Amino acid sequence: MNSQKSISNRNPPPNNRQLLILLGLLVGLIVGIIWLLNLLVNGLIGLIPLSVEQWLGSVIVPVYEQQAQPSLAQDTLNQLLNRLEKQLPPQKYQHRDYRVLYLPDDTVNALALPGDVIVIYAGLVQQVESENELMMVLGHELGHFAYRDHLRGLGRNLLLQAAIAYFIGDAGAIQSAAASALAAVSQSRFSQSQELQADEFGLVLLQQTYGHVAGATDFFARMSQKKGANRALLSTHPASEKRVMELQRLIEKQNYPIKERSPLPKSL
Ligand SMILES: [Zn+2]
Repeated sequence: MNSQKSISNRNPPPNNRQLLILLGLLVGLIVGIIWLLNLLVNGLIGLIPLSVEQWLGSVIVPVYEQQAQPSLAQDTLNQLLNRLEKQLPPQKYQHRDYRVLYLPDDTVNALALPGDVIVIYAGLVQQVESENELMMVLGHELGHFAYRDHLRGLGRNLLLQAAIAYFIGDAGAIQSAAASALAAVSQSRFSQSQELQADEFGLVLLQQTYGHVAGATDFFARMSQKKGANRALLSTHPASEKRVMELQRLIEKQNYPIKERSPLPKSL
């Protein structure tokens, strides 16, 4: 009797216990839903409609647009990008129109943003020594779009947050998702296999554009020798040495010719 009493005393009153069970169930349900959605987002990233990507872009791109400098350099970068775009397989990229935003900032980096925008920092252009190596960097970013790495880079949680905000139509939640998306875009770090895939994509475009692949490894080789100065690039594009080796292996395997490099356009 005595012991039973003490047990019942230790247990919370039924009201609280029911509440706890309910709470537990609710938490379990939410965790389960998040887990399921994560799985879905991960598996179906390739199927995310362009309209959702454009919506994310409409939130993220204007922030970069404000910092961009419409200039001769930006026009030139867009002309270079157009040349690469002509080599993209039409069935897959018909509805896309990529463009470059040129940011007057010393950062040595390039970013692929949702909404078909490639951000190129002036610091990167300053490091580049030929048109070919610049085209390789642009082709590499087009590769990230082709494999939708720029969406993966936002992270599953953020994609989820954005999707929920989108469906609920909660302005505050959309605002906060957008803010996180912005932070994620500048910090997104791709895996080595994503980088290699994008490099291979860029290499093929380079070959198709010039009929040879001179300059394909120049930029990455130089970056791997200047580690201290290029923290931004290395934080989002890791392991330059490995990439150079892999590109060289691909060039040999495909028997791509290497001819003369084209000089950088004067406006850059
Ligand atoms: Zn990359």
